[in-house]
Amino acid sequence: MKVLNFVNGEWKASINKQFVPVINPANGETIGEVTVSIEADVDEAVKAAKAAQKQWALVPAPKRAEVLYKVGYLLKERKEQLARLLTMEMGKVLEEARGEVQEGIDMAFYMAGEGRRLFGDTTPSELKDKFAMSVRVPVGVVGIITPWNFPIAIATWKSFPAIVAGNAVVWKPALETPLMARELAKIFEEAGLPKGVFNVVHGDGPTTGNALVEHPDVQVISFTGSNEVGRIIAEKCGRRLKKVSLEMGGKNAVIVMDDADLSLAAEGILWSAFGTSGQRCTACSRVIVHEAVKEELENRLLEAMKTLTIGNGLDENVKVGPVISEGALQKIDHYVQIGKEEGAKLLTGGYILRDGEYQKGYYYAPTLFTDVQPTMRIAREEIFGPVVSIISVNSLEEAIAVNNSVDYGLSSSIFTRDVNKVFQAMRDLDTGIVYINAGTTGAEIHLPFGGMKGTGNGHRDSGVAALDVFTEWRSVYIDFSGKLQRAQIDIDE
Ligand code: NAD
Repeated sequence: MKVLNFVNGEWKASINKQFVPVINPANGETIGEVTVSIEADVDEAVKAAKAAQKQWALVPAPKRAEVLYKVGYLLKERKEQLARLLTMEMGKVLEEARGEVQEGIDMAFYMAGEGRRLFGDTTPSELKDKFAMSVRVPVGVVGIITPWNFPIAIATWKSFPAIVAGNAVVWKPALETPLMARELAKIFEEAGLPKGVFNVVHGDGPTTGNALVEHPDVQVISFTGSNEVGRIIAEKCGRRLKKVSLEMGGKNAVIVMDDADLSLAAEGILWSAFGTSGQRCTACSRVIVHEAVKEELENRLLEAMKTLTIGNGLDENVKVGPVISEGALQKIDHYVQIGKEEGAKLLTGGYILRDGEYQKGYYYAPTLFTDVQPTMRIAREEIFGPVVSIISVNSLEEAIAVNNSVDYGLSSSIFTRDVNKVFQAMRDLDTGIVYINAGTTGAEIHLPFGGMKGTGNGHRDSGVAALDVFTEWRSVYIDFSGKLQRAQIDIDE
């Protein structure tokens, strides 16, 4: 399968006709070839988007939304087919792949509804016979840059609000996962979106992604990925005074108090730590447990981890799929060695699976460390694999302090039966998402999604908050007095 760019409604190879293979991480097989773009390809896509956006912005928003409803129905119709393809290119197990496509479906219908809202404010003027309101206006051409771990959902979180708000999009997906981008572009095409409103250019970060960031006709960059790349993008956008929304890494913790339902806590930890093989930005990678229940929780986790069947995610019995690449395996294993050197105690896992059915894919054994100190690197840095560190504490205050001691601030959770502790945690945990009696994953699309501190730069995907990234506010004053009225001056004292 050849994966081409989608520019101005046409499918085309990059100008220099270069292609690289797309690899199934479960078995190392080549499942396609994707074109690799250069600056000129990006420029062509931006030109098309710029021209199309002018017309698209004039289409009434409820009409724009009708396209999104069609997109939602097409995603729904193809859910199973898309989920299988997603598992093949990214590796997550089928059940999770279905869940990811469902996020796209939910986002389509939710953002289509915004076509009849896109609310601004009306507010009284301080002057007589004068009316005031604020309205959302599109920003123009939106550049979207996404990672491989949610190859379709993240693109829907960004492109659907952008499009319903009257923008045009140029999307650069991760080079590892171009197949879902192709499917989404096909769906937009079938749904009747005008040419040029949604464009896809495949390629690497430093060339293709950078061309989008540096392009003077791209007014906003919406990025999800690593902190390292996010910083580079933010600096470049800063120099150009370009709006930029960053959703980056996490070092998410589950807190387990001494009054918690330990069986539920173990289940929640298992799901949020080893789902997607730990490659979620919200994955639980730290467990902060009250000393009184530490041993029991460890035993429960070790028991539960025995049920984690590892293998190709297309097999419905498999619970943990491969990681994305050999490079990811090496990075995870490197962190495990660091953990051992730092003095953490390895309870289980800690190795690459290389034998038999695992030979050709990229599999890492689910790994549990205990006696981890909050200052250790494995407790502070994002590993992005199936590795969990257990840290023990003696109070809720200490648990919150440990949670808050990292540079990231994406997701956190607490298991407790005490309502007072719940409210204290809700108030004091410094993450953009907080779960009570659930793991660190499970965001729903109608709430804001994103993180505080080093995870982001104050913007959010999802929910109505996403519209703030893709619109500007315009304040409108309408004077119907027939005379000059000066604000702050012609007022009755
Ligand atoms: P990455 O930062 O390596 O790449 C992300 C995207 O940026 C890719 O499309 C890549 O090609 C592009 N890119 C790389 N260098 C670039 C450059 N110089 N200029 C422009 N674009 C460039 O991340 P990844 O490995 O694909 O994904 C994993 C990371 O994503 C993890 O850190 C994870 O936590 C994060 N993530 C965050 C969220 C969130 O919402 N907070 C969600 C999913 C993943």
